Amino acid sequence: MLSFLFKRRGFQGGVHPEDRKQATSHLPIQTLPLPERLYVPVQQHIGAAAQPRVQAGQKVLKGEMIAAGSGPVSAAVHAPTSGTVVAVEPHPAPHPSGLPVQTIVIEVDGEDRWTDEPEPEHALNLEPEVIAQRVAEAGVVGMGGATFPAAIKLNLGSRHTIDTLVINGSECEPYLTCDDRLMRERTQEVIDGVRIMRHALGARHTLIVVEDNKPEALAALQEHLYEMDHLEAMSVPTRYPMGSEKHMIKAVTGREIPAGKLGADIGVIVHNVGTAYAVHRAVRMRRPLVSRIVTVGGGAVQRPANLEVPLGTRVEELLAYCGGTRETPARLLMGGPMMGQIMPHAQVPVVKGTNGLIALTAAEINIDDPMPCIRCGRCVAACPCGLMPLEMASRIRSEDMDGAAAHGLMDCVACGSCSYVCPSHIPLVQYFQHAKGVLGDRREQQRRQEELKKLAQQRRARQEAEAQAKAEAAARKKAEREAAKKKRAQQAEAKETPAPAKTNDKDKAEA
Ligand code: SF4
Ligand code: SF4
Repeated sequence: MLSFLFKRRGFQGGVHPEDRKQATSHLPIQTLPLPERLYVPVQQHIGAAAQPRVQAGQKVLKGEMIAAGSGPVSAAVHAPTSGTVVAVEPHPAPHPSGLPVQTIVIEVDGEDRWTDEPEPEHALNLEPEVIAQRVAEAGVVGMGGATFPAAIKLNLGSRHTIDTLVINGSECEPYLTCDDRLMRERTQEVIDGVRIMRHALGARHTLIVVEDNKPEALAALQEHLYEMDHLEAMSVPTRYPMGSEKHMIKAVTGREIPAGKLGADIGVIVHNVGTAYAVHRAVRMRRPLVSRIVTVGGGAVQRPANLEVPLGTRVEELLAYCGGTRETPARLLMGGPMMGQIMPHAQVPVVKGTNGLIALTAAEINIDDPMPCIRCGRCVAACPCGLMPLEMASRIRSEDMDGAAAHGLMDCVACGSCSYVCPSHIPLVQYFQHAKGVLGDRREQQRRQEELKKLAQQRRARQEAEAQAKAEAAARKKAEREAAKKKRAQQAEAKETPAPAKTNDKDKAEA
């Protein structure tokens, strides 16, 4: 066992919400039948949107790249099945902006035909850069919901010394069990992906971390691991938000990420188990990311399930497959109830980061009107980041965003623990997300203004340089003209001066 190498600590704060996983944790992954149409957004990740490479009328095969990553932080998008592109146009999508996103609409032909049939690859013989390249080409992103392009994190071994790779199998959000089922049912594939990632990063130690409410997943992993492989599956106490990168690193290694730094700066990289599985598919099997496992749950769902779903399938298809709803959901969430995104309706598609579709009844959520803060301090005790949520909220209410920032707003990981414990039902985390959005917009505006200022300065400098070059050229021409004039004058003068008379030999003799 390697765990003795790690100075583990718990983390302060956090909460222990009722996990409500029993409804789906025993249900094996089922494959959702192909819908008639898929709505595949080109923006399913953090970073720049991918650029469409197909147009209406074009036939595509499963796994074909239909949108290419653009810029250093982006991810390619592939056709989730074979069919015909019928439109490339904006559609509703689960994007934080809430705005429609450019979407490639595919009419499914039902053949589900791949582009090719590649042989499995000897992935551990590949150079780290080749692994990262294959992961990038496959469009793999953080599958725990973060959706950061995975290849970028796999490349960090070339710039940082990474001694520890942590694989996050904690799945700490209530209701969600897709990672649990993945670890139990596709254990070897997950471990293979972990080994490939460890090889790419050059990490000496690797820990797969599972909360102690998933004993079957932990047992399945431990059964497939070898003692000499420097790879360990370990259990941690169930505590929300254990899955937050910062808190997981602290809990399993005892190391703290300094403010403004990343895990890589202290030698640790965290990836999700779903990402490990996607890396196995991308590198070993040469298959891009075209589907994912989604937990469909919540009290409003008739038959909760864990489904493997082609990306781009609309939420309404998942609900219909699960027998529809018992009652109109009071809240429809993409992701878990603590950090999930509220969906306005069921016509949004499943994307790479969709780990859950949770339809909650009114009885399951706290929809009481907020009351004034009673300064009980529970939010402070619950905050795993050591912040003062009540102080930040009071400043945000008075539009003092800078004051909230001075109280650590930007360190808030939006885990929702404070809202969860607040007896006054104050939607604290919503305040923080709103304020972060305002500050983000303000920073973006400042960045644009600075960029414009820089461009104006550059233009002025260019104009000045051009004017100086023009003046120099004019002076040079003038000098050349004057030199030519002088030369001409000298030549004319030379012509007008009579040549001295020549004396010949005869004259000399006569003399
Ligand atoms: S938990 Fe709610 S009521 Fe208590 S101090 Fe925090 S914001 Fe105020
Ligand atoms: S302030 Fe932020 S990090 Fe702290 S509990 Fe609230 S949401 Fe979580």
